[in-house]
Amino acid sequence: MRDQHTVEMPISAELRQMVDRDIQSQPPVDNSQEEILRVEHLKMYFPITRGLLKRQVGVVKAVDGVSFTVHKGQTLGIVGESGSGKSTIGNCVMCTCNITGGSVVFNGQDISRCSRNELRPLRRQLQMITQDPYASLDPRKSIRDILLEGPRIHHIAGSLEDQHELTARLMTLVGLNPEFSNRYPHEFSGGQRQRISIARALALNPSFIVCDEIVSALDVSIQAQIVGLMQSLQEKLGLTYIFIGHDLSVVRHISNQVAVLYLGKLMELTSSDELYAHPLHPYTQALISAAPIPNPAADQARERILLKGEIPSPINPPAGCRFCTRCKYASQRCREEEPQLRDVGNAHLAACHRVTEE
Ligand code: SF4
Repeated sequence: MRDQHTVEMPISAELRQMVDRDIQSQPPVDNSQEEILRVEHLKMYFPITRGLLKRQVGVVKAVDGVSFTVHKGQTLGIVGESGSGKSTIGNCVMCTCNITGGSVVFNGQDISRCSRNELRPLRRQLQMITQDPYASLDPRKSIRDILLEGPRIHHIAGSLEDQHELTARLMTLVGLNPEFSNRYPHEFSGGQRQRISIARALALNPSFIVCDEIVSALDVSIQAQIVGLMQSLQEKLGLTYIFIGHDLSVVRHISNQVAVLYLGKLMELTSSDELYAHPLHPYTQALISAAPIPNPAADQARERILLKGEIPSPINPPAGCRFCTRCKYASQRCREEEPQLRDVGNAHLAACHRVTEE
């Protein structure tokens, strides 16, 4: 189903040729196992302060010792409930915060230790798209100015003619009519605004994009269109993604690997197919059992695993396994000893005593 308020129009043959030429000039998609991002033992703690003197009274361990790698041209999905630390990981990869510990290595360079000046050229390669297409676009700027903001900051926007061509190319790439580039964000629907956010992220010709809940605020039919667009852009432009979300069915669709996060720790990490065929961690099993499936009969027939209570506060996480307060298999050992993320075979990593004991 198309976006009901779409302003998409057929684009001219000339412009289509221009876009096709541009796509053909991109390097071919590299499906090898070449590593582009390695996150090791990442920690991001936020101090809790009180009073006028801002005395530190505690610490929120938003991300606590997370490690993963992402390969060129692939997508790592990160799933978990609100408060699990998903977006914080995205911000750490984008270097928008000073990490507490660990490292973020992008193309062989530890970018978590880079100065602002050193980060500047890297910003062109690393882009982020956020959840809210309403809040992320400046309502006072035309779409053209929004799209050209990055290239202008980096002094690569070129002549007026170049800027016109770039705007048209970006709008066409994301399926919008370039003739509307002089319009303002409020003249577009939610799905179209998210397309504009995607075009803005592409303006600097990045190689890596962090997609932070980019479809969560959209209708289901529009979600499918945006996910389809991201997949086709990945194929055409050889992009690599981290795709953050809480809807497992959406994340499964686009991801090669999926990491399941709970209270700032990785619970399970493996290929998308393996995770959905053989979920090992009780938390992943509960998430998968709650995710809707398109077949209503099968959806009704399957067993649901209900999680008790809310996700505990990251200020005072449970001792031992962080999931033990909600896990029906929790034992004394689970309450005392923290399970480590271990490879249980088939490149399938899980942090659960029950799984690693079997
Ligand atoms: Fe449940 Fe124990 Fe496994 Fe944690 S370690 S998920 S509490 S069985």
